[in-house]
Amino acid sequence: MASASRRRSIAHRTCAACRQKAPSRDLLRLVQTPDGGVVADLRRNLGGRGAHVCLTRKCIVHALKKHSFDRVFNAQVRYPNADDLLDAIRSSLLQNITTLLASGSASRFLCAGTDASRKCLNEGKAACLLLALDATEKERFDAQAKERSVPTRALPSKDLLGTLTGRRPTGVVAIKDRGLADALMAVVDRLEALY
Ligand SMILES: [Zn+2]
Repeated sequence: MASASRRRSIAHRTCAACRQKAPSRDLLRLVQTPDGGVVADLRRNLGGRGAHVCLTRKCIVHALKKHSFDRVFNAQVRYPNADDLLDAIRSSLLQNITTLLASGSASRFLCAGTDASRKCLNEGKAACLLLALDATEKERFDAQAKERSVPTRALPSKDLLGTLTGRRPTGVVAIKDRGLADALMAVVDRLEALY
């Protein structure tokens, strides 16, 4: 969609922890529950007043520790455990990655595994590589991708990358479609900010 030049005005919100303004789509939104707690609006479908916080471990932990949402909701909020909240957000992002990879697989935009990924890279068809941190050939793939100016993103393990692609443990997956690669890298970057 090269002609998509219409610009919509983007709503900005303030992070309750660091007070920086950012586009609301880049922030985590939380809403109050009837029992006085807060819950992350991960699917962006919960109504009511929302509190916003950067999608980073630092700002989320800070907001919970300092009770930063009290002011937003004008009430004494019951705060969730930080690890539980971070787990829920990570699970949601991993689900997004699974969905993106499944759509890529259906469209034949993926080359999973060492041989298929290397072929894809050598033929200049890779838009990005997803690499498992424990993949034996990670460094070599990193170097080859760098030579070809192909961006890479790391996921914690072969087991996880395999699960996300619906396969056995997998060390490397090449993504052939630029749009899919960009979408995946954006989610992986968000995931990284939460560890
Ligand atoms: Zn922040």
